[in-house]
Amino acid sequence: MYIDLHLHSKHSDGNWTVGQIVSHAAQIGLSAIAITDHDSVSGLPEAIELCATAYDVELVAGVEINTVWSNRDVHVLGYFIDNKSDALSDLFARQVGARHAQAAQILHRLEVQGYRIPDHLADLSLLSYPAAPGKVHMANAISAITGLDVMQAYHLYLKRSGSQYVERASVSPLEAVQAIRMAGGIASIAHSGPLLQESPADFDELLQATIKAGLRAIEVFHPQHDEALRRSLRDAARQYGLLETGGSDCHGPYGDHPSMMGTQRVPRDLLEKLASAI
Ligand SMILES: [Zn+2]
Ligand SMILES: [Zn+2]
Repeated sequence: MYIDLHLHSKHSDGNWTVGQIVSHAAQIGLSAIAITDHDSVSGLPEAIELCATAYDVELVAGVEINTVWSNRDVHVLGYFIDNKSDALSDLFARQVGARHAQAAQILHRLEVQGYRIPDHLADLSLLSYPAAPGKVHMANAISAITGLDVMQAYHLYLKRSGSQYVERASVSPLEAVQAIRMAGGIASIAHSGPLLQESPADFDELLQATIKAGLRAIEVFHPQHDEALRRSLRDAARQYGLLETGGSDCHGPYGDHPSMMGTQRVPRDLLEKLASAI
């Protein structure tokens, strides 16, 4: 029996609705899923309701919080969270405010650069509703305004290394871990394989700091982790007494790419261990 603990819906930057995600999970025979939208739990009530009533799929209430640590993007997953937690909603309010501020700053920069902003792109919160504007929405809007292709727009304006990059204020991974803990959940560092590969010392430092804040797990199964990386992450988990999580990070199908849901073959017993650690 397999599970998938890392899925995005239209409530952040995925392109499937919650209903499409749950019905696809049932169709491919997953026994449990977690919907882990970026900085949002607004999709969870519908997912919980659907899984409880219409489908034979267990729903783990999840979230993925975008954080910045030493000038790097670090994502923190939370599982079994109380989606009505004040600690989380306070943190989300800060993150959403920062997303809107970044979107407004990028539009301002484009105007200063002489681009005309068409009326339908003047308020990006409308474009991304019910999600707050994220990189995908922004890249599409920048592309429509400038005529650059979407990937160029992304690299220039939305990547830290881009010459037109506009910084987005963000919470720290420690704050994210603490908020997840206060919401009764288990925090797991997402897709940290590339960081481990690039700088084992930074990876260690991040783990030690977040463990002090209450980190309980680390994402081992992820499309960015090959077998060797999985092994190293599993070793780190063992060394620090952390549990393992995993999932496809599926954002739904796009273009010719089919949905990745379920492709990580995450065994069910990972979930049993997480559940008994709450
Ligand atoms: Zn992520
Ligand atoms: Zn993700």
